[in-house]
Amino acid sequence: MMRHLLGAFFGLVLLSAPVMAQSSPLTGRYDPAIPTAQTALGHEFGAEITPPDRAIAYLHALQAAAPDRVRVVEYATSWEGRTLAYAIIANADTMQRLDAIQADLQRLADPRGLDADARDRLIASTPAVVWLSYGVHGDEISSTDAGLRTAYHLLASRNDAGVDRILDQTIIIIDPVQNPDGRARFLNSFTAARGLRPDENRFTAEHDQPWPGGRVNHYLFDMNRDWFAMTQPETRGRVAAMLDWRPVVVVDAHEMGGDSSYFFAPSAEPFNPNVVQSQRDAQDLIGRNHARWFDRLGYDYFTREVFDAFYPGYGDMWPTLQGAVAMTYEQASARGLVWRRRDASLLSYGDAVEHHYVASLSTAEVVAANRERFVRDFAEFRASAANDTSGPQSVLLDLGSNRWGAERLARSLVAQGIEVGRVDGPVSACGARFADGAFEVRFNQPAGRLARTLLEDTTELPADFMREQESRRARGLGAELYDVTAWSLPLMHNVHAVSCSRSAGLASEAVAADDAIASSGSNDGAAWGYAIAWEDAGQARLVAALVAAGVPARTSDVAFRIGDRTFPRGSVVVPRHGAPANLDSLISRLGSEIGASYVGLDSSWVDEGPNPGSENFMDVPAPRIAMLWDDGTDANSAGPTRYVLEQRYGIPVSVIRAASLGRADLSLFDVLILPEQGRSGYSSVLGSSGSAQLTRFVRAGGVLVGLGDATRWMADPDVALVPARRERAADTARPAAVQDEAVVDAVVLASADELDAVQAEQGAMPAYSPGALLHVEANPDAWMSAGYSGGAAVLVTGSDIYAPISRDEADTAMRFAGPDTLVAGGYMWAESAAQIAFKPFLISNSMGAGQVIAFTQAPTTRAYLEGLDLLLLNAVLLGPAHSRGMR
Ligand SMILES: [Zn+2]
Repeated sequence: MMRHLLGAFFGLVLLSAPVMAQSSPLTGRYDPAIPTAQTALGHEFGAEITPPDRAIAYLHALQAAAPDRVRVVEYATSWEGRTLAYAIIANADTMQRLDAIQADLQRLADPRGLDADARDRLIASTPAVVWLSYGVHGDEISSTDAGLRTAYHLLASRNDAGVDRILDQTIIIIDPVQNPDGRARFLNSFTAARGLRPDENRFTAEHDQPWPGGRVNHYLFDMNRDWFAMTQPETRGRVAAMLDWRPVVVVDAHEMGGDSSYFFAPSAEPFNPNVVQSQRDAQDLIGRNHARWFDRLGYDYFTREVFDAFYPGYGDMWPTLQGAVAMTYEQASARGLVWRRRDASLLSYGDAVEHHYVASLSTAEVVAANRERFVRDFAEFRASAANDTSGPQSVLLDLGSNRWGAERLARSLVAQGIEVGRVDGPVSACGARFADGAFEVRFNQPAGRLARTLLEDTTELPADFMREQESRRARGLGAELYDVTAWSLPLMHNVHAVSCSRSAGLASEAVAADDAIASSGSNDGAAWGYAIAWEDAGQARLVAALVAAGVPARTSDVAFRIGDRTFPRGSVVVPRHGAPANLDSLISRLGSEIGASYVGLDSSWVDEGPNPGSENFMDVPAPRIAMLWDDGTDANSAGPTRYVLEQRYGIPVSVIRAASLGRADLSLFDVLILPEQGRSGYSSVLGSSGSAQLTRFVRAGGVLVGLGDATRWMADPDVALVPARRERAADTARPAAVQDEAVVDAVVLASADELDAVQAEQGAMPAYSPGALLHVEANPDAWMSAGYSGGAAVLVTGSDIYAPISRDEADTAMRFAGPDTLVAGGYMWAESAAQIAFKPFLISNSMGAGQVIAFTQAPTTRAYLEGLDLLLLNAVLLGPAHSRGMR
C-alpha cells in the first residue's frame, strides 16, 4: 500500500516536469518488448531505491528480452553471498564477434611486437569499451538505478540516432551494484524507518544510518580505496574483469552531501605524474559534453574543485594508470527518497537518478563520436609505457628478510596486470646481493606506469602544488590533499626493494597470481617435534593454525641455535609429546597450504640459547580474541582489523558492541582489541566503568591491544591504561592562563609577523598529516618487536605524537627512526617530521598479570600495511604467552 502510493506520487512529479527537446534522453520512444522498471521492478526509475538483488535480476530480465544485444556476466560474490555482475551491451553484430574483439583489445593493451599497420587496422576496427560502474559506496544510492536506466535506454530506444551510434561504436559495460552488502545494509535501515510518506528532514531515522552505515562492505572496507591492495573479493573481481575488457573510459558514480549539486571531470589537482596529457584532454572533452547537457536540462554542476587524481587506490585512478580515461562523478544524495536542502529546495531520489543517467549517457555519446581517438590514446598509453626509458627501469624484491610477504606482494602485482619475473639463483645486481628467487619488476611494460607508482618509494607531487600547500599552512588553512601521500607497496609489505637505473637483464620466469607459495620442511628427523622460525607473518599463520588444531606450542624471547640453524627470538617449538597423533601430516598439510616452513627436531637439545624445557619458553595458547565494535569504534578500523585476523590468518574475532561491554564476561577472552575511535569516542561510550573493567581484565591476565587513536583514550590520565602523553606542537605558545576575562593585557606589535604569531593557535597540536610512510626501529629487548630486527614502515596520519616514555614505566617496543632516515615515502610537514623522530610507535607494558599494548598509529588501516601484520600477530599470539593469568 505504502509503496503503491509513493509510486503514484513520484509518477506525478515526473509527468509535471517540463517537456524536453526532441533529442533529450528523457523523452525516448521505447520498444515495449524490453521490460521497463515498472514491469520488472514494480516502480518507475527513481521512484524507489532498487535493492541489490533486484538490480541484478533486472539485468537478467534485459538479457532474456534482448539476448542478441546484452550479456550478463557474474564476476564476484560478496562476503554475505550476494552476486556482483555486469551487463555487456552492444549491437548484435558486435555481440557475435565478442571473443574476437576481446582478443583485439588485448593486442592493443599489449602492443609489443605489433607493427604500425596492424595496430592502425586494429584501432580502425575495434569498438571502444566504456565501463560504467555504480554504487561502490552502498549508501550512495541513486547511481545504481541510473545504471539500470542507462541499460534500459540503450536497449529499448527506437529510431534514436544517438543510441544507434553508441551501440555501433562502443561496447557499454554496466556494473550497477559494486557493493551489494552495503546497499542492502542501507536499504534495511531506510526501509525499517519508513512511515506513511517519505520524510524530507535530514535528521530523521530514514536518513540517519546506524553504525557502520551502508558505505562499506561486510568487513567495513571503503572499496574506493582498495583497488591496488585488492583485499576484498568485490575488488578482486572487478580488477580481473577490467583486465578482461580493457576499457578506454571508466566512470565511477558516487553521491556526496545532499546540499551540493553534481560533480564531473576534469578532476582536481594534484594529478598523479603518471597521468598523461591525452587523458587530461579527454576528461575535458567529456566534461564539456556533460556541461552542454546539464545546461540544457537546467542541472547545476561543478568541476575541478575537489576529488583529485593522485592516490592509485581509487576506482578512477587505478583504471587511469592502466590507460583508461577514468572519472568520478558525484551527485548530491537524497540519502532516501527526498531531502530538504538548506536553501529550502527539495532534492528527490528521482532527480539524482536522472542526473547520473544523463551523465552516463553523455559519456557514452562522447566516446561513440570519438571512438578512434579514445582507442588510439589507450593503445598509445600502453605502447609508450612499454617503451619508456626514463627514470628507474626496474625494481628487485628481495626474499631475504620477509619471504612470505615478498611472495604475496609479487602475486598481488601479477593479479592486477603487472608482469613480474622470478630470478633464477642468487644474483648480484643493482649494487646489491639477492637470495635465490628474488623478483624483478621491469617498468618498460604496458602496465609500467601503474608499476612505477606502486613500487617507487614516493610518487612526486607537483612542486607548484606543494608550494601552494605550504603557503596555505602558513596562512592557517588546511592542506588540499584528499588522501594519503604514500602507498609504496614494498614499504607497506616490509619487503626489501632495490631500484635499478637500468634493467638488470636478469633471466627470470614469469610469476602467476595463483602460484602456491613454496613450503619447506620435512617429517624426517622430527622425533621430538618441530621448530618454526618467527621470521614472517606466514610463519606466524602456521603457528596460529597449529594451536587452533590443539597442538601445544612454546615461544622464547631469546634466540636459540640448533646445529647450524639459528632461530630468532619469538620462534616457536612444537613438542610431539602432548600433540595430536596426526601432527606430522597436519604440519605438512598446513605448511604447504600456507607456504610456511618448519624444521624437524630429533631432540630438544640446543647448541646455544635456552632449551624448550626452560622457563624461557612460554606456552602459546590458541588465543580467544574479542574486539570492540559498533558505536564508539571507527568502522574503518574495526572492520579491516577483523578482516586481517580472520581472513588473512584464520583467527576468529568475537565482536562486542562497545555499549554492551559492561555486561560482557571478559574472562572468556585472552585478548581484547580496541580499534580506533569513532565520532562518539570511548570516553563517552565506555566511561569510567568501562576503563575500570578493562583494568581488571588486564590485571587478571588479559592482553589489551589499542590501535591508533585508541591509545589517546588509554593514555588519558583518568583511564591510565598506558603511561603515555601526547605532545603539543613544538614552538607553539602555551594556552594563556586566563582565557575568560573580558579584558586582557595589552600587546604592542612591531611587525605583521608578530601579529601572525599572536593569531596562531595557542597550545596547538602538531599539524595534521594526510599520510606518509615513516621508518620505525625495533627495541631488541622488547618481545613485542620479534621479527622486526630490520625495522618497518608505518603509515602516519593525523597529529598524534607521544612523548618518550621512561623505561621503568613501559617498554617502547618500536620507535620512529631518527631524522636522517625517518621519511620512507610520501610527504610529511618538516616540523612534524622533526618532532616525531625517535618518538614511540609501539608501547608494551605489563600490568598485573596481563599486558597492555598500544600502537600510536593504526597497523591495520585498509588492511594494506601487510608489513605490520606480524606485529599484530605478536600481540594476539605471543601476548597471551607473556601473561600470567590462570587459564
Ligand atoms: Zn562515494
